Amino acid sequence: MVRGLLCFGGVFVALLAALTIILQKTGMIDVVGLLRPLPQVDESYQRGFRSDAMAKINHIRVSGLVAAVKGDEEMQSYLADFVSRQEDPVDMDLQVVFNALQTEFPGAQYLAANLITSNSREDLLSKISGWEAVANSDFDVINTAVFTKGRTMGALGVMSRRIPAFSLGLANTRGGKFYNQCPHCKEIHALEVEKESRTLILSCPYCDLPFDVLASDTGGRIRRASDFFEGFELPENAAERQSQTPEERIVSLWNQIADRCEYELDQDHSETREVWKSPAETWGERAGDCEDTAILLADALISAGFEARVAIGWNGNIGQHAWVVVKTGENQYVLESTLQDGIVLENLTPLMDAADFYQPEQLFDRDHLYFTSAKPEQFRHDYFSSRWWKGIPVKKEAPGRPKLSLR
Ligand SMILES: [Zn+2]
Repeated sequence: MVRGLLCFGGVFVALLAALTIILQKTGMIDVVGLLRPLPQVDESYQRGFRSDAMAKINHIRVSGLVAAVKGDEEMQSYLADFVSRQEDPVDMDLQVVFNALQTEFPGAQYLAANLITSNSREDLLSKISGWEAVANSDFDVINTAVFTKGRTMGALGVMSRRIPAFSLGLANTRGGKFYNQCPHCKEIHALEVEKESRTLILSCPYCDLPFDVLASDTGGRIRRASDFFEGFELPENAAERQSQTPEERIVSLWNQIADRCEYELDQDHSETREVWKSPAETWGERAGDCEDTAILLADALISAGFEARVAIGWNGNIGQHAWVVVKTGENQYVLESTLQDGIVLENLTPLMDAADFYQPEQLFDRDHLYFTSAKPEQFRHDYFSSRWWKGIPVKKEAPGRPKLSLR
C-alpha cells in the first residue's frame, strides 16, 4: 500500500515536471522566474535597467532612422522617487503620473507611459522595447522606474520630450514648440511659433482667451505688439497748445500724421509678408497700413500725455482692422488712423457712435496687452475700463530702443 502510494506520487511528480518544462519552453509561464528571488532594486539597478532599455530602444530607432533617445537625470530621479512612494505601483493611474510629471516639469508636454509587470528583468526589457511609443520621433528621452510588489516585478517606462518656456528671444532664434502658462487660467499648454510668422494672436487652448499679440517687424524679427511703441513725439506749438481744448490737441496731432502718411498696404510695397512698422519708420517713409499709422498715432498721443490704445479687431466695412482709441476726461474717441488730409474736430468720433461698427478684440499700449471675456455690448462701449479689459503687463525681453524725438 505504502509502496503503491509512493509509486503514484512518483508519477505525479514526473507529470508535474514534464508540464513545467513544456510551459517554460512555450513561454506560457516563467516557472524558473517564479522561483527566482526578486532583485534588490536600488539606484544602481535602476540605472542599469534604464541603460539596457535605452540600448534596446535605440537599436530599434536607429534602424528606423529615428534619432536616438537619451536619459533625463532630473526626471529619472523624480520618477524613481514617485514610483517608490506608490502604495500599489502595479495599479498606478497613468494620468496621475502625467499630472505629477507636468507639474514638476512644465516643459514635458510630450509624454507617453507604459506600466508593465513580469517576474524577470529580461522580460520587462523586451516588453518595454516592444512598446510602439519607443519608435516615435516626438520623444527624445526614455526614463524607467523598476519596482517590486510581493512576488511581482514591474517597470514604469516614460517616453518624453521637454520643450522650452516661450520667449521672444527663442522664438526668433529657433522657432518651434514652446510651453507657456496662461496668464488667465494658469494652465500650462504647448504652442508653436514659426520664425516666419505673420501677425500672431496667441490663445490658450484651455480657456480660449488670447494672451499675446506678436508681429513681425520690417527686419523680420518677431516682436510683441507693445514693443512697437518707442516714445515717438510730434512737435506742438507751445502757444497754440495753451489755448487748445484736449480734443483740439488730439485733432492737431492726428492731423500731422494724416497729412504726412499715405495709406499703403504692405503688399503694395513689396512681395514680403505682413509686417508692422515702428512709428519712426512709418513717419520716415510717409506711409503705412492701418496698424502702422495706428501705432504711430497712439505713440504720439501717449507722448503728449493722453491715454491711448491701439485696438485690433473687426471693422464692419473693412474686416480685420486696427485703430486708435483715446480718452480725455470722461470722453473716449475712436480715431481712424487711415483717414488722410485735413482732419478736423468732426472726424473725432465719440466711442458710443462708433461702437457698433468697430469691434475690438485686443488692445495694447506701451506696457500692456488688454484682453476681455466680457460681452461685446459691454467692452465695445468702454476701451479703458479694467472691469471689461484685463491688462497683462508686457514682458520686456530686449533692451528698448533709444527714445526718439523730432524736436
Ligand atoms: Zn487659459
